[in-house]
Amino acid sequence: MFSRQLTVSAMALTTLLMGSITQIQAATDDTVTVYSSRKEHLIQPLFEQFTKDTGIEVNYLTGKGGDLIERLKLEGENTPADMFMTVDAGDLWYAGTQDIFQDVITNTIVGNIPTYLRDPDGLWTGLSVRARTLVYSTERVNSSELSTYADLADSKWKGKLCLRTSKKIYTKSLVASIIHNEGEDKAEKIVSGWVSNLAATPNAKDSHVMNAILAGQCDVGLVNTYYFGRLIEKTPDAPLKLFWANQDTTGVHVNVSGAGVTKHASNSDGAVQLLEWLSSAKAQAIYGALNKEYPANQNIASDEVVSSWGSFKKDNMNLALVGILQADAVALMQRVGYK
Ligand code: FE
Repeated sequence: MFSRQLTVSAMALTTLLMGSITQIQAATDDTVTVYSSRKEHLIQPLFEQFTKDTGIEVNYLTGKGGDLIERLKLEGENTPADMFMTVDAGDLWYAGTQDIFQDVITNTIVGNIPTYLRDPDGLWTGLSVRARTLVYSTERVNSSELSTYADLADSKWKGKLCLRTSKKIYTKSLVASIIHNEGEDKAEKIVSGWVSNLAATPNAKDSHVMNAILAGQCDVGLVNTYYFGRLIEKTPDAPLKLFWANQDTTGVHVNVSGAGVTKHASNSDGAVQLLEWLSSAKAQAIYGALNKEYPANQNIASDEVVSSWGSFKKDNMNLALVGILQADAVALMQRVGYK
């Protein structure tokens, strides 16, 4: 999945960041060091609260998920990282296959996070939930016309659909979930129908999909809910709405951001403590709200803005399956010409 070129760039990155490695290695024994592809403004408030609650300091380094995985592999036993955080079960699963995590299944984590949002072997734990569902123009589409992911393959949407590129992990995970739920043949017909209905070349970002709908280029698309949240925060009157897909069948495809304790953590105890704390009700309220996501801990309510989008049935397939089926999803999208 990750190219050789990326390996080279990870090495370049390691050299570039030597300064911060030194800094990280100078940390005390009690410090927990985290490598994160989740952005700084989404994790820093959590780590500050963890330090207030426990007295344990957290050091962190942010970067691209693929680069950080390569870096963890290169550093091996000498890695300063005790925890790796990233987004999407597909990427968490890939990290699991690269032998960078150790298994962690504790009573606290099992009590806080439902099984389907965790790796069955305990390599990673989902910490926030995002839904990938339909978004539509309230000016040109009536919600009664919408139903399922599969329905977007119907010819009534010809020239009216916008999608994000197949290169993005979010697309791969959604298609993997469709393969799981519908079988490979039906999934191929669905995705092929999507491609026939595209109004334009697939977009680079979810925000571009929504902007294309607002610009009148297309009427309906697929997005992660928090991107919709960001857009509506800036432009509350935008004529766009979310529609919960597959409510009479498998439910909306959900995914996670999450974390695992590294295989060569020098402070495993501290990292496990951080992971457990991140799964707690207190941390989960902060974690979800910072990015307008849903808490992974089902014992607490979503933040007010997120709740205002309404409740919905989620697809509770185990998210490790979106990783296992990822190669099939990529091959399927190539066969049908989904760029
Ligand atoms: Fe995202």
